Amino acid sequence: MQDETAVALNRALHHSLEFLGKLDGAPVGATASLQTLRKRLVKRLEDGPLPAQQVIDELVADSAGGIIGCTGGRFYAWVVGGAVPASLAADWLTSAWDQNAGIYASGPAAAIAEEASGAWLKDLLGIPAEASFALVTGCQLAHVTCLAAARYSVLKAQGWDVNEHGLSGAPAIRILSGEDRHGSIERALRLLGLGKSTAIEMQPEALEAVLQRQPDRPTIVLLQAGELNTGAYDPFTKLIPIARKYNAWVHVDGAFGLWAAASPRLRHLLRGAESAYSWATDGHKWLNVPYDCGYAFVRDATAHRASMSHRESYLIHDEDARDQMDWNPEWSRRARGFATYAALRELGRSGIAEIVDRCCANAHALVMGIGSLPGAEVLWEPTINQGLVRFLDPAGPDHDRYTDRAIASIVASGEAFFGGCTWRGKRCMRVSVSNWRTTQVDVDRVIAAFSRILSAGFPAE
Ligand SMILES: *Cc1c(COP(=O)(O)O)cnc(C)c1O
Repeated sequence: MQDETAVALNRALHHSLEFLGKLDGAPVGATASLQTLRKRLVKRLEDGPLPAQQVIDELVADSAGGIIGCTGGRFYAWVVGGAVPASLAADWLTSAWDQNAGIYASGPAAAIAEEASGAWLKDLLGIPAEASFALVTGCQLAHVTCLAAARYSVLKAQGWDVNEHGLSGAPAIRILSGEDRHGSIERALRLLGLGKSTAIEMQPEALEAVLQRQPDRPTIVLLQAGELNTGAYDPFTKLIPIARKYNAWVHVDGAFGLWAAASPRLRHLLRGAESAYSWATDGHKWLNVPYDCGYAFVRDATAHRASMSHRESYLIHDEDARDQMDWNPEWSRRARGFATYAALRELGRSGIAEIVDRCCANAHALVMGIGSLPGAEVLWEPTINQGLVRFLDPAGPDHDRYTDRAIASIVASGEAFFGGCTWRGKRCMRVSVSNWRTTQVDVDRVIAAFSRILSAGFPAE
């Protein structure tokens, strides 16, 4: 007889393969309602135990219609990746091994897999080899990690030890960003007690003018590698030298855009970004590693370590090893390095470049294909994997409402999943392609679905 763990894992394998096998034929969006999912999943908590197999089978049955097909090839609403095979399998092993990857001593192989991954990532992404790194839950926490190091460093330069004295009474840090920063930046600043950033026009003259006004103030400049709607890049070669002249810390949000560095065709977009002080990116977007996986890199390893490290007599520290706790905001943590390690080895340099280039080509084909249908308009032609389209109401002037209805119709059809945004005052449909599974066949299928929807008119609201 198999033991209960083996039975449960075999059921999970069975259900997983069935789910992945049916992805292409299944609706991309949810088909079960909020009420249905609540009714099925929010059960009375049993007084006694249940067999593991029953728990797993019921979890799958009760979740039916409530699992979005974002790991498949036709999800374009947000920058959401899938999971390449070796990384998905490594992620399962991570749970089976169940290491506490807080320090080397509690998961030696996990620590070394992170060490290897960190070095490979720096090489792929064009980040200086001397930079320190941390594998965190996502770009949100990568911002927190990088900006904690920034906060420590810019205050240290003013003779203020933030670890010792906190922020009360500290010199006020000036934070400058472009207009279109991602919301995770504001949340990171809020968590670190730094308040809001001041939005300026991120062009050389504007930046220099602001810095000149208070040249000695501790300052952090936030730049974008891949703006969330358009994928646009700040002009790093011009901006970073100016920021450096005023001793400002430059942090780059490259959640997905930093991956352009892995493509010989697109690498030029990141020219100059290597001279920043910190960089944040994701594994669970363009690298196609399962959630949750982001990466923080900091040029000044000493500042990074000073802002995170901690020692306790009950912990074991091997002086030659890398303890993740010295670089990460968590204490106990999942050994998330295995999935990254596996993805990087499975794909290799050329495999990663191929995913990046193919996603960009597919995004371009989708935007131009949908945009050329009668009644559609391209608002942003992709330079990387991001584009914007809107739909013009033949019956009247309310194109915003019409665009939202078009998006709702395609999602309801189950053929693809898109989302909207308001960009330069206009409602648009975002097109993000970052999944390794998306093919030309998917692109043609989705353009055909839009063609049908636009010519048939939308169902009544
Ligand atoms: C997704 C994204 C983030 C946030 O990353 P998470 O992995 O969701 O924490 C930050 N910046 C940009 C530009 C993004 O696209």
